[in-house]
Amino acid sequence: MMKAWFKKYQLRFHRPAGTSRGVMTTRDGWFLFVKNDSSDYTGIGEIAPLPKLSCDDRPDLESKIDEVCQDINNYKFWLGEGLQDFPSVRFGLETALLDLKNGADRVLFSSEFTTGRAGIPINGLIWMGDAKYMQEQLAQKIGQGFRCIKLKIGAIGFDKELQLIAALRKQHDAAAIEIRVDANGAFGADDAMEKLQALAKFDVHSIEQPVRQGQWPLMAELCQHSPVPVALDEELIGVNAFAKKENLLDTLQPQYIILKPSLHGGMAGCDEWIRLANQRNIGWWITSALESNVGLSAIAQYTFRKNVTIPQGLGTGQLFTNNIPSPLEIASGMLFYKPENKWEFNK
Ligand SMILES: [Mg+2]
Repeated sequence: MMKAWFKKYQLRFHRPAGTSRGVMTTRDGWFLFVKNDSSDYTGIGEIAPLPKLSCDDRPDLESKIDEVCQDINNYKFWLGEGLQDFPSVRFGLETALLDLKNGADRVLFSSEFTTGRAGIPINGLIWMGDAKYMQEQLAQKIGQGFRCIKLKIGAIGFDKELQLIAALRKQHDAAAIEIRVDANGAFGADDAMEKLQALAKFDVHSIEQPVRQGQWPLMAELCQHSPVPVALDEELIGVNAFAKKENLLDTLQPQYIILKPSLHGGMAGCDEWIRLANQRNIGWWITSALESNVGLSAIAQYTFRKNVTIPQGLGTGQLFTNNIPSPLEIASGMLFYKPENKWEFNK
């Protein structure tokens, strides 16, 4: 028999993080613990929905976590349809159970990644801020060896953002530095195509969510005609049923989709998205969603098993002042898991 329990936590950002949903200074989540009666170690998972964004950021979330804990021996149901509409809880449960099964040393999938021999290429994320702050971050990321830069745009005005991209391109061509932008839905129906054409002049690799989600005719048209490949992100939120996923991909025909286990059905949900995308020649990458190192490590281990070659969005571990010390380490634009750096859960 198994038992399970949970604990709420709060992470603090080093500096307030400007997102499409306002500025965040802290971020709440839950750790989920599972244990067998017959053993004395405990598997850990993380439940971290994004406020105002995740489909399971809802008032009854904590009571759902409690329900799962009370009924943990029915875990097969919870891993499947029981948590279809609670992706962050499913992801936390998947992680905790895998951890328990593997002896609770936080290695969920043993690989060259978890032995420290191979890394995962990641993008360097540039947060929204004034032009000076964005410029500083850019210089820093390039100095650290990132070959792929992701810029959040839509905060300081498109012209200024374009200037920033132009300056970056002047120093580094597309062969040296890949530029991805994330509009988080900031463009309007009237100006989206014009802005995409302006971005295309600077060899931008892709644009995430150019317009707000839920505008399918407009998004389908942009996916078809945009000179910059379109990557759907927020559009996937709440699209949890298999038939709905198929319908979304077939209707919008994006060039890429962005997968976040905490938001998109856990690992099982992402497996499903990946299968559907591959069948349609749609590219994808995986990103974290401001989890602590517990969730980030699980996502990274999951991602490595997919044999990814293009940069993934897994560079969020250093944003917090009180993150859990872990084997995760970033070097030369790659995320590594260095087993000699130990997890420290009591810090
Ligand atoms: Mg995005």
